[in-house]
Amino acid sequence: MTLSDPKLLANIRIVLTRTSHPGNIGAAARAMKTMGLAQLVLVDPAIFPNSQADAMASGATDLLTRARVCATLAEALADTTLALGVSARRRDIVAEVLTPPEASARLLTEAQAGPVALVFGNETSGLSNEELSLCQGLVTIAANPDYSSLNLAAAVQVLSYETRQAWLRHASWPQPDIDAATGDETEKFYGHLETALAELEFLNRGSPGKLMLKLRRLFARTRLAKEEVNILRGILTAAQEAKQAAVKARNPDVQ
Ligand code: SAH
Repeated sequence: MTLSDPKLLANIRIVLTRTSHPGNIGAAARAMKTMGLAQLVLVDPAIFPNSQADAMASGATDLLTRARVCATLAEALADTTLALGVSARRRDIVAEVLTPPEASARLLTEAQAGPVALVFGNETSGLSNEELSLCQGLVTIAANPDYSSLNLAAAVQVLSYETRQAWLRHASWPQPDIDAATGDETEKFYGHLETALAELEFLNRGSPGKLMLKLRRLFARTRLAKEEVNILRGILTAAQEAKQAAVKARNPDVQ
């Protein structure tokens, strides 16, 4: 049997956001290592490093030693071209809901081009809407509808297992269909969009409502290529310049 390239697994990152219990971080590291995943990223963990994390990791403490700790989810996803949020609850923030095998196939396809991520939420509150808005899709583990919330590390195990099985089954993957923008490029675009919409007086910074969340969902539905982000930012700059020129024409004395 010819296996897929081992580098694919190395490009798949497990991101745990705001984890409360250090034991879960250790158990997640163990779940990952048993399935050949090694890139653990922790966003603002409550307690880390910690002896409980080490104990639960057992022979996977090397993943904890190498784990990257980030202050924000945006930082953890800055260089990724695909981030999938893992959540039991369907939210209206992310349009696409995938099963674990579908998610694994997507991740392995995109991992050929660069780093990709699975994002897990806090034990009590799950993923916030803001965290989900940084993801391009949602993965749900179909569980008992009367009790569907798995332990965090158990959810990491399910997704890691599915990813390994998909990796074992396929010797090759189709190439990604677009040259996708990274998390950082996409966030810079959203920042530019928000500034431009405020300057154009379409967005009222005093009461922005859910406009930006809705626009994020719109763009997440299409997935943005690098070139498309550049075109959109060019349009925004042109609109900003036209607005500035119009303001100047109305008030010629103001510098
Ligand atoms: N009360 C939280 C549950 C958090 S469990 C909530 O309702 O969101 C901790 C994490 O494990 C979740 O944020 C999610 O990433 C993952 N998880 C648990 N059960 C899941 C399921 N059935 N499907 C997908 N992810 C799940």
